[in-house]
Amino acid sequence: MSIAEEEIKKFENSNCAENKVFYQAMEEVIYSIAPLLESDNKYTRYAILERLVVPDRVIKFKVTWLDDNNTIQVNTGYRVQFNNALGPYKGGLRFHPSVNEGIFKFLGFEQILKNALTGLPIGGGKGGSDFNPKGKSDFEVMKFCSAFMTELHKYIGPRIDVPAGDIGVGSREIGYLFGEYKKITSTYEGVLTGKPFMFGGSLMRPEATGYGVIYFTQKMLELEGKESLEGKICTVSGAGNVALHAIEKLQHIGAIAVSCSDSKGTIYDSRGVDLDLLKDIKLNRRASLEEYIKVHTDARYIPLADYPADGHAVWDIPCYAAFPCATQNELCDVDAQNLISNGCVSVTEGANMPCSPEATTLFLSHNVCFGPAKAANAGGVAVSEFEMSQNASMTKWTFERVDETLKATMEQICTRVALTAQDYGVKGNYVDGANIAGFKKVADAMIAEGI
Ligand code: NDP
Repeated sequence: MSIAEEEIKKFENSNCAENKVFYQAMEEVIYSIAPLLESDNKYTRYAILERLVVPDRVIKFKVTWLDDNNTIQVNTGYRVQFNNALGPYKGGLRFHPSVNEGIFKFLGFEQILKNALTGLPIGGGKGGSDFNPKGKSDFEVMKFCSAFMTELHKYIGPRIDVPAGDIGVGSREIGYLFGEYKKITSTYEGVLTGKPFMFGGSLMRPEATGYGVIYFTQKMLELEGKESLEGKICTVSGAGNVALHAIEKLQHIGAIAVSCSDSKGTIYDSRGVDLDLLKDIKLNRRASLEEYIKVHTDARYIPLADYPADGHAVWDIPCYAAFPCATQNELCDVDAQNLISNGCVSVTEGANMPCSPEATTLFLSHNVCFGPAKAANAGGVAVSEFEMSQNASMTKWTFERVDETLKATMEQICTRVALTAQDYGVKGNYVDGANIAGFKKVADAMIAEGI
């Protein structure tokens, strides 16, 4: 039995239905780091893996709030404080009806290694609620956020745990959460990132993850000797924060982003996505992508239900580079096969773990450049840390300073991941490179801090 199989066996009882995605994330890391465990037995001696896969604490709480009809609503809140070996727990809040403890454990676990790769002093955590902001009035979102913070404030602080946004949590929600924290604690401190600029937010935080994904991809293509994205057809999934800004940066550099998607369907606009219209539909009107073809009648809208169940329309569009930016496991083996058959050269994960293990294996075995989420989408958390620094020193960075530092950070992450992969005999495998480099950083700190 290989060292990876031995390690995975220890965690088999955590592979229950709720923990499925957490187990998937853990398994990938264990396979990647097997050569490191074999080359240095200190990681086994200090039981780093056993300690790393168990969160420091999982906080679960009831959130009770009044809707616009004065009916009492009850939701569940979570905060998984996973690991603070490198700095305060840091990671987003997700508001979506599909969440459970297993999803937050998967996201928190990924966040530990992602944050380590940035080289910044931040640990890993994640949280949120099964509250669904969709279809709720502004007042209902505000009341929910206040009720959520009434409990969460006990566990967070600028040196303890600093949440940010994720699916369903944008600057509106962060604003309400910050307002409530301020009211309860009578403090004005950088306890959340992704705040609106007018009260402590960093310029470019909204753009950071999407822009970072493109900076990472450009560097990866350069290191792998491939042509740059300029002038190339690119496909993007999602139509939220990450997708919108990935499309925006692709347009800045002269690439042609021809798609986007939401939970109901896909838009294919071969002339390039109309970003102003897309922002209006999603940010102002919070409406369905179906609205897009009312303006651009020559674009195609493919409802989710109209596409065969074992694949996704967006990955059937021929492209040079693909950017899954919606949600976990949104790109399966059938999709990977379609992308490969259509000549796709590069896939970069904007969302967290959007590619299934089978899809990832197909990309790697067909020499498709593959940028894994924990490296490629670290731009959001990096700029969150810049926001923490600005709050702590009561300063404001210019847009240009944030952008330049973000670009440099993404290029450093990409280079470190590529070099680590090379050092461990898996040149070009950015999945293993990211897992080994991130794990090593956290593990060495854990050893130095004692048990
Ligand atoms: P948003 O809530 O802003 O947007 C999510 C988008 O994805 C929405 O347009 C949503 O559709 C769409 N979507 C959800 N499920 C599906 C699906 N099954 N198929 C197609 N589209 C779907 O979230 P973010 O953009 O912030 O986050 C997207 C991903 O990026 C997540 O995995 C998140 O964890 C990750 N991420 C986000 C960071 C950030 O800074 N925001 C940082 C790092 C990672 P609809 O509009 O219908 O709801």
